[in-house]
Amino acid sequence: MTFIIGTPHARGAGYYRNDDRLSGGTLSEADVLTCPHCQAVVKLQEWKVRGGFCRRCDAPVCFACYVRMKTYGCEPFLKLFERQVDAVVKYEQYLKRAGLERLPETTPQLLISP
Ligand SMILES: [Zn+2]
Ligand SMILES: [Zn+2]
Repeated sequence: MTFIIGTPHARGAGYYRNDDRLSGGTLSEADVLTCPHCQAVVKLQEWKVRGGFCRRCDAPVCFACYVRMKTYGCEPFLKLFERQVDAVVKYEQYLKRAGLERLPETTPQLLISP
């Protein structure tokens, strides 16, 4: 059995293994980390070829976030989550102050679908 270990940022990484050989597929293994910007699973062997690194988070980021980072900079997932909660709270406060009723169609869009 061969293990592919040794990417420079594999510290704290998880291990992904998908064995489809019984159904005619292949065996795939990888060290995995979670992207600090979007929570996507990043396979480090693929990330080495196509991925980026956030110096502020000091962690590898997925390719989509790497591209986005060039424009928007570091956007940690928790920061997006806080912004979302803040928007909902401010909206509720506005409704209360204005004496309005909450309408489902005007409720801020949820960032994370339940
Ligand atoms: Zn990402
Ligand atoms: Zn970052």
